[in-house]
Amino acid sequence: MCSGDLGIECLGLSRSFGPREALAEVDLRVRRGSVVALVGSNGAGKTTLMKILATLLTPSAGTAKVLGHDVSKAPMECRRSIGYAPAEERSFHGRLTVLQNLEFFASLQGMRRTGFRAQSMPLLETFGLSQHAEKRFAELSSGMKQSLAMVRSLLHDPPVLLLDEPTRSLSPDLAHHVWDLLRGLAHVQGKTILLATHNLGEVEAVADEMAILHQGRLVIQGTADHLCQTHGVEGTPKSAALFRHFIRNPRQAVAP
Ligand code: ATP
Repeated sequence: MCSGDLGIECLGLSRSFGPREALAEVDLRVRRGSVVALVGSNGAGKTTLMKILATLLTPSAGTAKVLGHDVSKAPMECRRSIGYAPAEERSFHGRLTVLQNLEFFASLQGMRRTGFRAQSMPLLETFGLSQHAEKRFAELSSGMKQSLAMVRSLLHDPPVLLLDEPTRSLSPDLAHHVWDLLRGLAHVQGKTILLATHNLGEVEAVADEMAILHQGRLVIQGTADHLCQTHGVEGTPKSAALFRHFIRNPRQAVAP
């Protein structure tokens, strides 16, 4: 794989918080037009990795690139290229309506008002939010708030998506709808998607590859079929069998 094919590339990426090493020498690659699911136990470092790629945290060592742009050297180019939906949404304004919130974030992305309207309404429709467009953010349910974070991440049509537990609060029907959407965004539109999740059903449904983080280290990355075959892991669904195997035996992994 040459680096021009990569939407995301991390090499030796590390991040410490005081004495705690949240990420240690992570090498991760996500091909353009593919979905990689990032899985790992609580505190494994998934959100830290996402935040570094979203330019919200700086690396302690190593490099992280988005479409070839280094997050430390070219943060503006990275920000323009990514849509980030965090696991916990705290940046919306409770007193503003759904549309007013989106308009605010669209202006930060340099979108014109006309473009904003044309792009936001179909997205709100997709996420079942069109009838709530005039509702204040504070009045939305937690699933609606999470859906709005996804709408915001897609609004400026970025080529790279960083989605941290995107369907955690969604009803099963909406979650399936989002999975269909993500597959289309990657495989038809060619977007690069890194998806952090605890839902192994989500991994089976949308991911081309899975990457397992354990205590800040990337223990394995690849397609579930290839990983099962290479490491003699049996069981279904394959992502669950791999997760069990490598979380119990992280040292058996071979660097991807
Ligand atoms: P979860 O699945 O529970 O959301 P995660 O895999 O996303 O976890 P992170 O949130 O990236 O894990 O945290 C990785 C490690 O870094 C944890 O040990 C966490 O306590 C620590 N950590 C994260 N942010 C900070 C911070 N701002 N200050 C100190 N430690 C932090």
